Amino acid sequence: MGPLVEKLKVDYPEFRFIVGKKFLFKYPKTIVIGPNEPNSELLLLHELGHAILGHQDYKTDVMRLKMEAEAWEEARKLSEKYKIEFDNDSVQDELDTYRDWLHKKSRCPKCGLTRFQSADGVYHCPRCENF
Ligand SMILES: [Zn+2]
Ligand SMILES: [Zn+2]
Repeated sequence: MGPLVEKLKVDYPEFRFIVGKKFLFKYPKTIVIGPNEPNSELLLLHELGHAILGHQDYKTDVMRLKMEAEAWEEARKLSEKYKIEFDNDSVQDELDTYRDWLHKKSRCPKCGLTRFQSADGVYHCPRCENF
């Protein structure tokens, strides 16, 4: 992991790389490096992807999923540049985790129908709520 971080620090002096409990991007400039794991380098590139794309807070979960996919696409480009093996399967697993989470979260607890989120992030059920 060490050499990649050092290269990124040189290539992206505008961002701050710190060590923390988990991989994370804190808008606007801080990339938190989580503990070592098999996909550490990819996760680091993914967070750098968020940073390069200037991702801020998301209001809705669909927006979050979109940002996750975009950050992975950016990570794919970066992995070519830095000669890091891009493991498509683990990336799909990561995205599936978000999709499952989104799916569970959007289910209406009363009737089980898929709800939708309005721009303020609140979920609405088309069956249980009257419009
Ligand atoms: Zn992400
Ligand atoms: Zn409902």
